[in-house]
Amino acid sequence: MTRGAGFHWVGDGFYVTQVIPGPYDLTRAADPFLMMDYHAPYHYAPTDTPRGVGVHPHRGFETVTLAFEGSVAHHDSTGAGGVIHPGDVQWMTAASGVLHQEYHEAEWARRGGTFHMMQLWVNLPAAHKMDPPRYQALTADRMGRVDLPGGGVVTLVAGSLGDATGPAQTVTPIELWDVRLTPSETAELAVPVSHHAMVFVLDGQVTAAGSTIAAQHLALFDHDGAALVLTAGGEGCRFVVLAGEPIDEPIASYGPFVMNTRDELIQAVDDFNAGRFGRIG
Ligand code: MN
Repeated sequence: MTRGAGFHWVGDGFYVTQVIPGPYDLTRAADPFLMMDYHAPYHYAPTDTPRGVGVHPHRGFETVTLAFEGSVAHHDSTGAGGVIHPGDVQWMTAASGVLHQEYHEAEWARRGGTFHMMQLWVNLPAAHKMDPPRYQALTADRMGRVDLPGGGVVTLVAGSLGDATGPAQTVTPIELWDVRLTPSETAELAVPVSHHAMVFVLDGQVTAAGSTIAAQHLALFDHDGAALVLTAGGEGCRFVVLAGEPIDEPIASYGPFVMNTRDELIQAVDDFNAGRFGRIG
């Protein structure tokens, strides 16, 4: 069970703790998830100058942004842009490369309020690292839903549970679920046996295999084909299930570039410096 090592600012708008890989070496265990930045609930004062992070590149993977509270605006070098509202998920396949900027949405920033989000970096296999970039704006109304017998609800962003499927089109098989359980409820959530599986607790606490996972902690599961069996504490709980088929390829990473080899990283830096990631108009 792990958590990040303190909080740090990304730009001036995102106060996050890096849970994956964090202070531990989770690169193998968390594969295909390269990174998780968790922005715990944090109050921002009203401002006419939205906070955020300025223009930066990504190549070789996907960024997946889950907005729990607050709204994020983004603009990128393909001309795409939009707003991620609470309950929405943006699945950005950077692949061969995008330049983008991420800010608090202007209207939300003017009002101020509590901001709560998560950003994942999901690796791409070598065969897809140089694909064209793609966006999936997954709005809250499109998510899959499973009502559990004990009153809990599973909201599916990606992957399938029972008859429900999340709307995300993923390059490799991935499950990404937002789960709410009622007080003391036990849920059995089936994850394919070949997939790495992790649970990150947002609220309350969860007991699994005799261990208690506290809020803002990540647990990695060994599972042998049986479902993940998770029991909420007496206050109920909310957690995110992150699971996926390991890609199991060499990783060469340098800041916002994650490739397979050092030569590919050098190429990425050259391409970025030569303006081949395009521009933001
Ligand atoms: Mn970014």
